[in-house]
Amino acid sequence: MAAEQLSGRGIREPRVLEVMRKVPRHLFVPPEHQLESYDDRPLPIGYNQTISQPYIVALMLEQLQLRPGLKILEVGTGSGYQAALLAELGTVAYSIERVPELAETAAQNLKAAGIQGVRIRVGDGSKGWPEEAPFDRILVAACAPRVPEFLLSQLAKEGCLVIPIGEDLNQKLVVVQRSEGGMQTKEVCGCVFVPLVTE
Ligand code: SAM
Repeated sequence: MAAEQLSGRGIREPRVLEVMRKVPRHLFVPPEHQLESYDDRPLPIGYNQTISQPYIVALMLEQLQLRPGLKILEVGTGSGYQAALLAELGTVAYSIERVPELAETAAQNLKAAGIQGVRIRVGDGSKGWPEEAPFDRILVAACAPRVPEFLLSQLAKEGCLVIPIGEDLNQKLVVVQRSEGGMQTKEVCGCVFVPLVTE
């Protein structure tokens, strides 16, 4: 997976490649899809949701320019796989999932993978996690029509946020960089994510 689907498609960040080799994706995939665990595509995890495609997971991590000790908010815990990668990259990870059953399964998956320290909460992640803000990085793993204001307001100075913007099959992965001069936005590539469901 790392050689063909990640390095082969342009992922260069050594630490991202290292953790993606290390964290076993099959521990985050339901039993009926085990044989497809290392295919480069999203897989169903129940409740009409998916574990994201490995390439896009790696691309999001690379765009965030992560360093150990950074505080990061993930919106959309799903299976817990990306949260596991965040923890293995040494970040202080907070993750919000709106479907309680998925949050529970994600916690079990993380435990089975021997990964500790990810704080998971059930709720509407578009509102962020105000008690723990600001965050150095914010990763949104579901598509929104625009960047939620609550998330922008919880981004630290010099912070960076990655989010799919658009709808249905017309989505772009967008990076928002906060700096003294304001917010700079860049489009990275097309993508397909499940919708961010807001209250
Ligand atoms: N990062 C996940 C992983 O590694 O498995 C994949 C996330 S999946 C593509 C998107 C997730 O976002 C789903 O589990 C969905 O329930 C969740 N979601 C959608 N809207 C949400 C919201 N407003 N707040 C929190 N989670 C949300």
